[in-house]
Amino acid sequence: MTSDQMIERPRLSSSAEIEGQIYDVIIVGCGFAGATAARELRREGWNVLVLEARDRVGGRAWFKQNAIGNEPLEMGGKWFYPTERFIWAEADRYGHSLVEPIIVDWPSTWLTSDGLKQSSLPIPLSELPDIERLIVAINQAARRIDVSRPLSEQALADLDISLTDFLENVGLTVKTRTIAEAYLQAYASAPAVNISALHLIRRVAAAGSVSEFVMSSAGYRLSSGTAPLVDAILADAKADVRLSHRVRAIRQDVDGVTVEWESGTFRGRAAVIALPLNVLKHIEFEPPLSEGKRRLSTEELACIGTKVWATVKGAPTNFFGCGNGAGLDWLSSEDIIIDGGVLMAGYGSDAEALDVTNHAAVQRAIRSFLPDAEVLAIAGHDWRHDPFSLETWAVFRPGQITRHDKHVRTTEGLLSFAGAHTALHWPGFIDGAIESGFRSAREVSALLR
Ligand SMILES: Cc1cc2nc3c(=O)[nH]c(=O)nc-3n(C[C@H](O)[C@H](O)[C@H](O)COP(=O)(O)OP(=O)(O)OC[C@H]3O[C@@H](n4cnc5c(N)ncnc54)[C@H](O)[C@@H]3O)c2cc1C
Repeated sequence: MTSDQMIERPRLSSSAEIEGQIYDVIIVGCGFAGATAARELRREGWNVLVLEARDRVGGRAWFKQNAIGNEPLEMGGKWFYPTERFIWAEADRYGHSLVEPIIVDWPSTWLTSDGLKQSSLPIPLSELPDIERLIVAINQAARRIDVSRPLSEQALADLDISLTDFLENVGLTVKTRTIAEAYLQAYASAPAVNISALHLIRRVAAAGSVSEFVMSSAGYRLSSGTAPLVDAILADAKADVRLSHRVRAIRQDVDGVTVEWESGTFRGRAAVIALPLNVLKHIEFEPPLSEGKRRLSTEELACIGTKVWATVKGAPTNFFGCGNGAGLDWLSSEDIIIDGGVLMAGYGSDAEALDVTNHAAVQRAIRSFLPDAEVLAIAGHDWRHDPFSLETWAVFRPGQITRHDKHVRTTEGLLSFAGAHTALHWPGFIDGAIESGFRSAREVSALLR
């Protein structure tokens, strides 16, 4: 679907031509951010080259064909909130529909230190005030945030603490805290102690409120998957896209930018760096990247979690479990049966705790919630150890937003920096990647003029 051949190109240059050619803009990385930047720059009439390390485009949005049986599955990004305006606009532009949300049940299976519990509530009714206090605290904090402005300009440092500390400050009972942690860890793809509470509260602010955040978290999806949308953006761009071109170094001089990949170099007047933040530290920059970007990439973002698909024999089609499973914090079924097994999606907060490519390990993790589960097939990608991502979806660590947010999207010489982690409204989401592509295209156009 997302192969080289699918991308309509104006022409393919021979190597001899490439050597002498100077592109207006070289884009490094072809996820949604790079693809959007390519299209917007082409619209402005610039000559654009896109270099992508993998043998496919789309990056962490990967609609994999025949992932289990004949079923294509989203190995990465899939769900969209109603308030994400960039993804909705792109879907509309190319006539791709977003499917109505599934009405998500609150989890009905809970896993705490007391063991498995089947109930609509994991805690005694007497502890409901705890939940109320937590919701009020998050909503009040969210009202302080203007998502259209950088957070580091908004005096929010008191919220840029770990999720663990935030929950502690609200003063919850152990049970409520355990469940809140597990639920939010799955949502943030990271252990609670590494998650910036401010990052999560920003998402609540972008969604509207805690209930809108929870109700829409597994909401709309693209009916034909993410791959046709990124292909449509690239076909529109008519840029020169090179797959299997892993960039190693980016050097700036007074006349432009030289981009080195494994087997040669390309020359451009400017460049867009549309790479995941955790990958940035492995690229050689000359002059070196600013201290802020370097430190952030070396510290790394918090998002080291997992997503895995499995088909499970005899599982309920309306299952939703949450808690401290063996490598999974969240397990839910989809209303799809593949080769006799119910399709289930699991999310965990630490790739070291679960190898999503190991059938036995995934079955063990699923059995935390469904003790008799027989897993028939699995499909998982280890994003954390994939050298072209090294992370799942961008989630900042405590203190990182306050210290580094102002650095992530600043231009450096002839380089503009895109990527979902640089977005204002929905950082870490496909919507954020698209937002960043628009911004980078504006910045580079201004530079070139
Ligand atoms: C498991 C999982 C679940 C997710 N769920 C959701 C969801 O439900 N909803 C949602 O909106 N988002 C979700 N996301 C996040 C979303 O997929 C990403 O935020 C978004 O796709 C990032 O786009 P990007 O263009 O910024 O980065 P990427 O998609 O990572 O693109 C960067 C590109 O750079 C390339 N690259 C890396 N190194 C080099 C190099 N040296 N040289 C050249 N190219 C290089 C990569 O191969 C990649 O194609 C999920 C992500 C994961 C992993």
